[in-house]
Amino acid sequence: MNGRSGIDGLEPMDVGARAGRVRAGFADAGVDALVVTRLPNVRYLTGFTGSAGIVALTPDALLLVTDGRYAEQSRVQLEAAGVDGQVVIGATAGEQHAALVAAVVGCPRLGLEADGVTWAQQRTFAGEFTDHELVPTTDVVEAVRRIKEPAEVARIRAACAMADDALAELLPTLADGPTERDFALALEFGMRRRGATKVSFDPIVAAGPNGALPHARPSERPIGRGELVVIDFGCIVDGYCSDMTRTVSVGDPGPEATHLWDTVLASQQAGRAAVTPGAECAAVDGASRDVIDAAGFGDLFVHSTGHGVGLEIHEAPRVARTSTGTLAPGYVVTVEPGVYLPGVGGVRIEDTLVVTTDGAVALTEFPKQLIL
Ligand code: ZN
Ligand code: ZN
Repeated sequence: MNGRSGIDGLEPMDVGARAGRVRAGFADAGVDALVVTRLPNVRYLTGFTGSAGIVALTPDALLLVTDGRYAEQSRVQLEAAGVDGQVVIGATAGEQHAALVAAVVGCPRLGLEADGVTWAQQRTFAGEFTDHELVPTTDVVEAVRRIKEPAEVARIRAACAMADDALAELLPTLADGPTERDFALALEFGMRRRGATKVSFDPIVAAGPNGALPHARPSERPIGRGELVVIDFGCIVDGYCSDMTRTVSVGDPGPEATHLWDTVLASQQAGRAAVTPGAECAAVDGASRDVIDAAGFGDLFVHSTGHGVGLEIHEAPRVARTSTGTLAPGYVVTVEPGVYLPGVGGVRIEDTLVVTTDGAVALTEFPKQLIL
């Protein structure tokens, strides 16, 4: 289910080519080699999907260390992914780390992933890599991951399509007044029945006052007529996530809610229009935020406008007021402004888009319509 084997007609990914692109960032990061401990980065570089593994990436070699549970799986997955690398199985962390130490001989500056290494791991590594300067790094693998290969976009697109389909099937059942929890469960089942590995995050189904909590948990409360219902959900296909939010109402939710919804839709459209290659992420946030500010709801838009999507549901780049990066072709980002009125409800509308050479294309295609 991975790498060159492809799945269900999806084109294979060239996983083996990624190590070279990551190495190209070593000089800027001030390292000679990188110890990769963040599992999404391990998967990105090797195709290995196990729950424990560390990669040592040096200028001319790639080593994956893992434990006996993954002896067979790790070798099969690296080969299927077309990765030119060695696997060492260690029964203990000590054995595994000894293999890492041997792999990085001759690499004086050794990068550790500052966002992935715990304090305890750092202390352990400091006691083991005694011949090296340990350099805290951020964004070395993630910087490469930002630019999705066409085969990665195809997986995100497939996940988005499964989510679109599941929602199309289930939206009419909102009229029956299911509980938030039952509707969330049906969405999850619908996506998995279509082939998704699992959900990309626990679905948010938040009706009426619950919708005023941006990350509400689905409750046992039945969804009522005329309530705003925020539905934020996604699934995973071959490791890649989808993410979409729609806000709907069974019947007319009234003028106040309709005005909120219209405002958020206009904000979302402005944000989407700003997603172009070369655009500053902060400018995309600003395009969405200006519309909501102008309508007087600025204080109710309590989160950033979007985020990258890929092997992780939230990954680089952030699309926020404080972002410093710019968009480039191959980036996959969300645009998801929202307003949250305590005691009344919330509206959020979110699409996932891929940046192209001359603009952006939405991967989530479900129609935006307030009243069912
Ligand atoms: Zn979402
Ligand atoms: Zn999102």
